[in-house]
Amino acid sequence: MTTPNTVDAARVELLLSELRLPGIKLRWAKLAEQSDKEGWPAARFLAALAEHEVADRSCRRMERHLAEARLPAGKTLATFDFEAVPMVSKAQVMALAAGDAWLEQGANVLLFGPSGGGKSHLSAALGLALVENGWRVLFTRTTDLVQQLQVARRDLALESAITKLDRYDLLVLDDLAYVTKDQAETSVLFELIATRYERRSMLITANQPFGEWGKIFPDQAMTLAAIDRLVHHSTILEMNVESYRRREALDRKRGRGRPPVHATTNKTEPAKTD
Ligand code: ADP
Ligand code: MG
Repeated sequence: MTTPNTVDAARVELLLSELRLPGIKLRWAKLAEQSDKEGWPAARFLAALAEHEVADRSCRRMERHLAEARLPAGKTLATFDFEAVPMVSKAQVMALAAGDAWLEQGANVLLFGPSGGGKSHLSAALGLALVENGWRVLFTRTTDLVQQLQVARRDLALESAITKLDRYDLLVLDDLAYVTKDQAETSVLFELIATRYERRSMLITANQPFGEWGKIFPDQAMTLAAIDRLVHHSTILEMNVESYRRREALDRKRGRGRPPVHATTNKTEPAKTD
């Protein structure tokens, strides 16, 4: 039995569960105690509960977005050594990490450079920063996504599979050049690029700048159409550095701390691969 001044705590918790207010459910008893002790006006108590629920929700949302982004672990902007890639402007990367204008416009980022130069690291780190800033991101190897889209196409569900990806403000396609030259594969990739054009952003990493893209798409018209759409609103970062892994290994051998910089800003030089 409850008198007018006592509250059935179990009932309150049941109601809060039913209303799906887990943040309030977790904290109401303690806050009520504090409120009683300090003589808060009822409105202040209610406001404090609401603030906690909103903060908890945004925390859970961020956790969900981090999980769905499937970012490789441990690749952050803080652990990215910008001195190793002097041709990439840290200020420009930091501006991209804020998101805002470019993601709202569905603009793209294209990251080129030889193997081991830090493309995956930098794109994962950018993805992480964007999730932390409230954007939704999916990081995927290009081959994995292309395979999924091919399966969808076989099931006559390509359009809805591509539409589902609309929920992500940014799609990171890592290692574009490893997609094999196969008509079916490459046309799902083209569908994806064409559908997201000017609506939703993509960050694409590739070993080879456009000169070699004829090898990715089945014919020249499709190659040009894909490049055209990707480049139209884009930031292109070229990371023409020697493999960070190899430099680190060399450095260990020489018994020095940091890898030396063997950078070239000569953009006409063909990208070296491992
Ligand atoms: P890519 O994708 O271009 O082949 P990765 O991003 O996989 O290269 O880099 C290879 C390894 O070297 C990774 O472990 C990555 O974290 C590290 N690495 C590369 N560049 C840097 C950098 N500038 N600062 C810190 N670590 C780096
Ligand atoms: Mg990589």
